[in-house]
Amino acid sequence: MRNVSTFHDLSTTRFSLSGMVGLVPTMGYLHEGHLSLMRRAREECDHVFVSIFVNPTQFGPKEDLAKYPRDLERDFRLIEPYTDVVWTPSEAIMYPQGYQTWVEVEALTKFLEGAMRPGHFRGVTTVVAKLFNGVQPHKAYFGQKDAQQVAVIRQMVRDLNFPIEIVVCPTAREPDGLARSSRNVYLDPEQRKAATVLFRSLRAAKELYESGERSGEKLRQTMKDILGAEPLAQMQYVSCADYDTLEELDEIKGKVLLSMAVFFEKTRLIDNFVLG
Ligand code: AMP
Repeated sequence: MRNVSTFHDLSTTRFSLSGMVGLVPTMGYLHEGHLSLMRRAREECDHVFVSIFVNPTQFGPKEDLAKYPRDLERDFRLIEPYTDVVWTPSEAIMYPQGYQTWVEVEALTKFLEGAMRPGHFRGVTTVVAKLFNGVQPHKAYFGQKDAQQVAVIRQMVRDLNFPIEIVVCPTAREPDGLARSSRNVYLDPEQRKAATVLFRSLRAAKELYESGERSGEKLRQTMKDILGAEPLAQMQYVSCADYDTLEELDEIKGKVLLSMAVFFEKTRLIDNFVLG
């Protein structure tokens, strides 16, 4: 596995390779969810590139950038079996002095995570566009765990004509249903137990849907009731939205995204199910 940091070294390495190239963008502190993306890339591509970059422009001023967990040595050990090239740019390489260009997807970023985290997706789409331009992969791998991110990146790829296939991989979960996340390390043992409430509320709404319920409000209320019964959880939003437009639904028709953000003190967790 080769480690590069500058755009120059990245492109020298990239263009010495022929065949199908896959990219897995990450912010590091890797877990089974990230590795599932890399395994899929390994199966489908001749060369797997992994980027590790904690992107400052997608964090709000009150968010956890400074204390976002990092452990590059451990990350390198974990990804070695699946990765040919790991790209670890510094902030100065990614955003040199005088940097002033941004990529913004307009409508899809007004809802859900975009509404709660102003500027977040502008940071995400900008850095992902730069990762795409740097690596020039044939395929890029993202997790369904970040459902709106997937929708926004697909839109960007369509709108800006990136010749890249976006591959979406299922959410990797702990045995008790909690979605794997770098932020789970912030949870104390009590919060960790309580955090299964996201999965439990999604599962209850899914069961209701499968029994024939098509009222968006009833599904939202079911999730809210279950989250509300957990004293350690403070819900930020609960949504039952159209899968394509991300607009809240009164009546469910077609594919639907159930999603939520929940705080356990300062730790913010998100999760979602896609139905239909
Ligand atoms: P992050 O390092 O959090 O930016 O995540 C990097 C990529 O891994 C993103 O495409 C995430 O959606 C994906 N990812 C994170 N957690 C999971 C998970 N539990 N299951 C599947 N993919 C995940």
